[in-house]
Amino acid sequence: MSSNGIKRSRQRERIYHVLRRTREHPTAEWIFERVREELPKISLGTVYRNLHVLAKQGMVRELDFGEGTKRYDAFLSPHYHFVCEQCGTVKDLEVAPLADVNERIQQLVPELIHAHKLDFYGTCANCQAAS
Ligand SMILES: [Zn+2]
Ligand SMILES: [Zn+2]
Repeated sequence: MSSNGIKRSRQRERIYHVLRRTREHPTAEWIFERVREELPKISLGTVYRNLHVLAKQGMVRELDFGEGTKRYDAFLSPHYHFVCEQCGTVKDLEVAPLADVNERIQQLVPELIHAHKLDFYGTCANCQAAS
């Protein structure tokens, strides 16, 4: 591998490592700030590009909650997300995915269903305690 190739794969490995260590569902900017502590020369554009590659490889999930910026998740097991409308926190809901949703909808429509997406919105426990 060329030295450029080694540099590129090291950057990607650090980005993945940072994402793997958090349950915050961070944005690319958040990841950039962390990775920069170790690789000061890395650019935000490089972080975006690598996140895109990791998502295409199926290593990370890209999340879009309509905030105008994507968030990333390195935990791939099926789970639902909760978005706090007060503080913007995104967290994993500790509930099993609804197993029979796909089958129930499948009985009603001619389209062939293989997955569904469901996000929950409301007020997190912290914000409830603060009000
Ligand atoms: Zn909150
Ligand atoms: Zn998650």
